[in-house]
Amino acid sequence: MIIDSHVHLYAGDFAGDLDEVMARAQLAGVQKFIIPGVDKASFEPMMSVVRRYPDRCFPAVGLHPTDVRSDWEAEIEFVVTQLQQQKFTAIGETGLDLHYGSEFIAEQRRAFEAQLRLSAYHRLPLIIHAREAFEPLFDVLDTVKSLPLRGVFHAYSGDAATLRRIRQYGDFKIGVGGVVTFKNAVLADVVKDCALSDMILETDAPWLAPVPFRGKRNESAYLSYIVEKIAALKNCTTQEVEDVTTRNAEQLFAI
Ligand SMILES: [Zn+2]
Repeated sequence: MIIDSHVHLYAGDFAGDLDEVMARAQLAGVQKFIIPGVDKASFEPMMSVVRRYPDRCFPAVGLHPTDVRSDWEAEIEFVVTQLQQQKFTAIGETGLDLHYGSEFIAEQRRAFEAQLRLSAYHRLPLIIHAREAFEPLFDVLDTVKSLPLRGVFHAYSGDAATLRRIRQYGDFKIGVGGVVTFKNAVLADVVKDCALSDMILETDAPWLAPVPFRGKRNESAYLSYIVEKIAALKNCTTQEVEDVTTRNAEQLFAI
C-alpha cells in the first residue's frame, strides 16, 4: 500500500476523469490520499471530492502562501471556523513562497505564524510549503520556538543541511515526489543522505509529474516511479520504501 500525502484531486485538471484517475491509483497500490487545502474559494470543491471517496481521502485545511493577499485575516478566520466544525488531518498547506515576488511577504509571514499556532492548539501536523523562502521561514519559526511543532515540508526543495536545521524546530518529515526523478536533482542527494523514516511520498498532482511524464499532468498512480527511484537511491527494495513511508504517513496524519 502507498499513501499519496499531497494531492490536489479537486484541481480543475481532474474534473473530467477523476474516477479513472482514482481507479489507476488503486491499481498502482495507492490507497490513501491527503488533500491539502489552499484557500476558502477551493474549500467546497475539495470537500466534495472527499465526500465522493470518503474512505480514501483525508482533507487538510489551510491558506497557501501564494493565496495570501490583503484579505488574509478573513481567510485565516475561515480556517479557524472550519477547524471548529469538522475533523481534519492537518493544517495546510501553509508556509512561505517568494517565487512570484515579495509583495505580500509581511502578510505571508503573519498567516504562516497564525497557522503554526493553530497546529499546536489543535495538535494537528503541518503541511509546509517553502519555496525560495527558507531564511524568512526560519525567522517565523524562531518567533514560535516554544510551540510543539511537527509535520512535513512538502515538495522538499532544500538540501541536507537545511533539513538538519528544520529538525531543530520539531518533528518534521520531507515530502518526496516527482522532482527526485529529475536530472541533477538536489532532492536525490537529500534522499540518499537521510533515512526512509524521514520521508513520506507525495505527487503534488496535478503538478510535478515524475520522469517520464515530466511537464505533463501528474496523478497518484505515478507514485510507483517515485518509489522505484527512491529504492534505487537507497539501495533497498520498493517494498521497503512503500512499507516505511506508508507507516510514516499513517503516524504523522493519524490515518
Ligand atoms: Zn500543494
